[in-house]
Amino acid sequence: MNQTFDVIVLGVGGMGSATCFELARRGRRVLGLEQFPLVHSQGSSHGHTRIIRTAYAEHPGYVPLVRLAFERWYELEQLTGRHLLTECPCLNFGPPKSEHVEGVRASVREHKLAAEELTASQITQRFPAFKFPADYTGILEQAAGFLYVEECVRAHIDSAMSLGAEIHGEEAITGWEAVDGGVRVTTNRGTYHAAKLVITAGAWATRLLADLGVRLVVMRQTLLWFAVGSRTAEFRRNRFPLFIGETPGGTFYGFPAIDSHGMKIARHYGAPELPNPDGVNWNIVDADITAMRPLMDEYIPGVGAFTKGQVCMYTVSPDHHFVIDVHPAHPQVSVACGFSGHGFKFASAVGEVLADLAETGTTRHGIGMFSAKRFR
Ligand SMILES: Cc1cc2nc3c(=O)[nH]c(=O)nc-3n(C[C@H](O)[C@H](O)[C@H](O)COP(=O)(O)OP(=O)(O)OC[C@H]3O[C@@H](n4cnc5c(N)ncnc54)[C@H](O)[C@@H]3O)c2cc1C
Repeated sequence: MNQTFDVIVLGVGGMGSATCFELARRGRRVLGLEQFPLVHSQGSSHGHTRIIRTAYAEHPGYVPLVRLAFERWYELEQLTGRHLLTECPCLNFGPPKSEHVEGVRASVREHKLAAEELTASQITQRFPAFKFPADYTGILEQAAGFLYVEECVRAHIDSAMSLGAEIHGEEAITGWEAVDGGVRVTTNRGTYHAAKLVITAGAWATRLLADLGVRLVVMRQTLLWFAVGSRTAEFRRNRFPLFIGETPGGTFYGFPAIDSHGMKIARHYGAPELPNPDGVNWNIVDADITAMRPLMDEYIPGVGAFTKGQVCMYTVSPDHHFVIDVHPAHPQVSVACGFSGHGFKFASAVGEVLADLAETGTTRHGIGMFSAKRFR
């Protein structure tokens, strides 16, 4: 097999599926190659839901991109007729001078966002499931919600294919090479040529981009669901917001109860580094659950038994910001990786940015802070 495309997209997870869609709707001949079956749970884009929020604690520079992402998710909903995003307020909380809360404030200030400052007692009055030390503060923003992550990936893939994209599951890329006029890509099934290559390999990016000089750390993260039992009304999204809390015991975040599994909760960062994304233990172990309990007992007391868990991977860059750039040595190759545990919400916008980079080598969207060169 030896076929030629305008663009090959390496890895069809969150970012790759969006890129295939955007290129296909621009009329490009696209091939998306995914090593696992399409819409799988062995990478970083699974586990039912993902938070999307506007007052971005990580850096105000993300706010324009998240606004674009909202637009593109709503557009994808319209195009497919599928429900992908549920609006839900997001509560950010922490002790005085918490880096997370200060980060949210910086984005609110810089972009004049609507957000409400709350004291600990105001938070518990409004959301009775929480309990905080008296000096904690919170910022509540309404321009937030959660995305149905697998549905989003599926919607991008289905839409891309209906526009003519070829997307192959269970076809692993074993190597790529820059050649005259483009790239040659080798897989376990054959060889393909394209003018451009977009690498959206998630946790496998480290291996595929060895010459990029970016050290990415892969972490095993867990998503855990806990029963809310007879208090079910207290955990519905009209009484319980999305939340992200920075505490002395670690940063954690959670979702209201939206189904019979109860509330979903997870720790952010802090997991040990994995030497290899293929060596992950995909099973939840007792230690995963016991590590979560102290935070729940302290800040959301009385939550019930563990009901379900899923393992997922973070791919973390040295400064926790994304890497989205044209490959410094090969202008026909673009890369997007190092999403550092907060990338999914942006996938719909990243698809547009990567399509721009593949077509023209540049984009009108502000991605300067994601340059690969910043680590050199
Ligand atoms: C537990 C957890 C919670 C999170 N919560 C949030 C959140 O609330 N909000 C948010 O915005 N983000 C969140 N994130 C982060 C977000 O999910 C990720 O940043 C995002 O999904 C990364 O997408 P990706 O396309 O880079 O990776 P993936 O979706 O993993 O896609 C990479 C794909 O490339 C494929 N691939 C790799 N190598 C090859 C090869 N050689 N050949 C073929 N295919 C290949 C992989 O199989 C994979 O499908 C969370 C992540 C985790 C793990």
